[in-house]
Amino acid sequence: MFEKILIANRGEIALRVIRACREMGIKSVAVHSTADADAMHVRMADESVCIGPAPSSESYLNKAAIISACEITGAQAVHPGYGFLSENAGFAQALQDHGLTFIGPNAEHIRIMGDKITAKETAKDLGIPVVPGSDGGVPDFETAKKVAEGIGYPVIIKATAGGGGRGMKVAKNAQDLEIAFRTARSEAKSAFGNDEVYMEKYLQKPRHIEIQVFGDGKGKAVHLGERDCSLQRRHQKVFEEAPGPAITAKMRAEIGEICAQAVAKIDYIGAGTIEFLYEDGQFYFIEMNTRLQVEHPVTEYIFGVDLVREQIRVAAGLPMSFTQDELELSGHAIEVRINAERLPNFAPCPGKVRTFHAPGGLGVRMDSALYGGYSIPPYYDSLIGKLIVHGRDRPEALARLKRALSELIIDGVDSSVPLFHMLLAEPDIQNGEYNIHWLEKWLESQFK
Ligand code: ADP
Repeated sequence: MFEKILIANRGEIALRVIRACREMGIKSVAVHSTADADAMHVRMADESVCIGPAPSSESYLNKAAIISACEITGAQAVHPGYGFLSENAGFAQALQDHGLTFIGPNAEHIRIMGDKITAKETAKDLGIPVVPGSDGGVPDFETAKKVAEGIGYPVIIKATAGGGGRGMKVAKNAQDLEIAFRTARSEAKSAFGNDEVYMEKYLQKPRHIEIQVFGDGKGKAVHLGERDCSLQRRHQKVFEEAPGPAITAKMRAEIGEICAQAVAKIDYIGAGTIEFLYEDGQFYFIEMNTRLQVEHPVTEYIFGVDLVREQIRVAAGLPMSFTQDELELSGHAIEVRINAERLPNFAPCPGKVRTFHAPGGLGVRMDSALYGGYSIPPYYDSLIGKLIVHGRDRPEALARLKRALSELIIDGVDSSVPLFHMLLAEPDIQNGEYNIHWLEKWLESQFK
């Protein structure tokens, strides 16, 4: 087992990893930018190294500085968290070249899944159902027209190099298509430096359902059920739950088995998430994330496992600590993402937190790097905390979430907490009846 792990991240996810290290008796090293000298992850780690100025391009994305920090401190492995370098194949490779362990999948798997066309082709080859669409890239408008006629309107045009919900355009009919195709290409070019696009059937009322998988890198893999992350604003998740309100035990076992077998076949190592759109009983692959997800705690709650501990174990060459048969789903968990932002337009509002009080009690988990007196820097993501609750069933989890939200105090900056009070009063949320468009429509009706 490693003696010392460096965490190449900040905020709540850095704390999450430090906590797992501490329970495993592993020393932790925090890295930080000059803007984060007073951050909680720096205080909580056993050691810390400043790796550069505030902009993340010069600090949290600075591979050379992070590798130097490993050499200075004697850290043997790096946990990348999510975001930043977590899906950077070059970084995983660079660590390996320096004799360090990347706590995550190998560079090749990251690369395959980072290119959306290759990812979709690989998924298809591995027996995973995909959204009907073009075979690979669509080079010109004439081809786009043929593809659209083949799969039927509406269609969605997506950037091969896309991510974060950017570079997607919907065309409802042939008239729309020309402009949608050209805009998608030019946006892809300016956002990702690559104008290749591909096309898919546009699903009208799907849910976003993702399957958590975990592999040991030696041909064994399991699934840990699904998360329903349909409540999104601008393709960003805001509320996630497990199990999914629309998914039956039979469906979970079937799609879970397909996903586990697929990753076992490629000797995948560590945590991964296979994302689907789900409509009328069918699953359609959209992408795979080769890292820990923000919303992993809902899965940890219902299966009673520590996914970060497990990531560290398999990276050190140990076997997984559970088999598929030992994984038993219990109860219901919900996560809400708390951002420093002001309603109704969700403008980011960094600033000084005067008071922070986290809720507690049975079935309540608050993952946050806030503390009273802390100044949220303006340079990074606006996520300031995640409140996760667990109950014996969905109604209990909802009641617990409401109770926990009422205990939470974040004073000094605006946050998305009022949004969740409002959402919990909605019958559709109480009944679990929503799809990927629900939240945007609801926001329009509330704040127009
Ligand atoms: P990104 O990598 O940019 O997040 P994804 O392919 O994961 O892109 O898609 C993000 C979101 O876009 C999905 O969660 C869904 O809301 C929407 N979306 C993607 N593909 C389709 C599709 N074929 N039909 C309808 N909505 C889609």
